[in-house]
Amino acid sequence: MKTDADIVIVGAGAAGLWAAARCAEAGRSVLILEKTPRAGTKILASGGTRCNLTTTLGARAAAQLFGPEGARFLSPAFAALPPHAVRELFATIGVPTKTEPELEKVFPASDSARDVRNALRGWATSKGAVLQTDSEVTGVEPSDDGWRIHMGDKTLTTAIVMLCAGGQSYPKTGTTGDAYPWLRSLGLKVVHPVPALVPLISPAEWVRALTGISADVEVSIGKYKRRRPLLFTHQGLSGPGPMDASVHVARAAGTVDLHVDLLPDKSWEWVRDALMTAAHQPGAPSISSILPLQRRVLQMVSTQAKLRQLNPRARDLNKAERHRLVETVKRLAIPISGTAGFAKAEVTAGGLALAEVDRKSMQVKKHPGLYVFGELLDVTGPIGGLNFQAAFSTAELAARHATAAP
Ligand SMILES: Cc1cc2nc3c(=O)[nH]c(=O)nc-3n(C[C@H](O)[C@H](O)[C@H](O)COP(=O)(O)OP(=O)(O)OC[C@H]3O[C@@H](n4cnc5c(N)ncnc54)[C@H](O)[C@@H]3O)c2cc1C
Repeated sequence: MKTDADIVIVGAGAAGLWAAARCAEAGRSVLILEKTPRAGTKILASGGTRCNLTTTLGARAAAQLFGPEGARFLSPAFAALPPHAVRELFATIGVPTKTEPELEKVFPASDSARDVRNALRGWATSKGAVLQTDSEVTGVEPSDDGWRIHMGDKTLTTAIVMLCAGGQSYPKTGTTGDAYPWLRSLGLKVVHPVPALVPLISPAEWVRALTGISADVEVSIGKYKRRRPLLFTHQGLSGPGPMDASVHVARAAGTVDLHVDLLPDKSWEWVRDALMTAAHQPGAPSISSILPLQRRVLQMVSTQAKLRQLNPRARDLNKAERHRLVETVKRLAIPISGTAGFAKAEVTAGGLALAEVDRKSMQVKKHPGLYVFGELLDVTGPIGGLNFQAAFSTAELAARHATAAP
């Protein structure tokens, strides 16, 4: 069969560049087609232009953050390329890394996302992969002995096609969900894409009144629970806690309550007992001296708990007020009417259904020679370098499998 390349990769993002380097290293001719004028635009924008490229967690703990189905699917990929191996690889291509252990993050030592993008691109092209920018793919189709890649009125042929065109978040970076219809037309199930890792909108004036305040809290919605910082904004909520929870908001219909534990280090019993004990203490302490909350947060809590005063003495609380105060501190209900949408979402949840893909190779079960990986898959991790890690690990498995045969 006469082909344009052994392997054609659609999308020069984190996943596509990684796979390209690995396949070219294995001696294959590799063509990467990228519709925008440059590679790795999302890498450049990532981590506030510092690129949180992986996590300090081990492979198992990292995979578990993708939920039960995601963890099962990703475990072979994370075992093949664990987070520490990503760091080691980047060190070999000129990007030593450093850690920010509080939130388990790993950044390039230079704090430069550009260094990460340049190193990945340089790694792929120095191994012989050809990067063709301004090259928009419009469809893929199986042929008798491989694949046809359509680019408007031009068609390329290849034995193996790797689809890693990303999701549809941050569309200005080039990701506009192009590959979903291609996958559907191949008879594959695509889980409805929704914005994720995105700020939340609250209709409540009292929420927006706290704009600029941040707090270390535990956020929960339904069965989901995670301890991470929260930031009040003029639209509602942002920061890792609310953004990690945003996929559950995006999948819910209508307004939902996000619950926030404002004192995650203190148990319900501790808060209740502290208020009761203080009610009998000399000096009649006020609740601000008992509950370690910022002044404006305490005022909000007093209002939401319908206390008669903003900062009453513990002994002046009646039983019902004390009960509401504990409830408000430990399980503040914040009404959320939606997310800030794909334009502001760091990732897309949904994508190619995991049941369609062999998790040991990233090959699509019904279509040998078609590999799908990166954000185009229905896997979504929280903030903290997990999504790049998933992109690199799934790309690694695909490249290993696609180049295994002599
Ligand atoms: C603002 C922001 C900050 C982020 N920060 C972090 C972070 O710090 N850490 C982290 O882990 N994750 C972060 N993410 C998420 C991370 O960027 C993605 O998970 C990751 O880029 C996914 O890699 P990918 O290669 O699968 O897809 P992408 O990086 O999205 O790459 C897909 C590529 O395919 C190209 N493409 C699309 N359609 C076509 C087509 N029809 N033809 C040809 N090419 C096409 C696109 O132009 C794009 O270049 C961030 C995302 C955003 C938006």
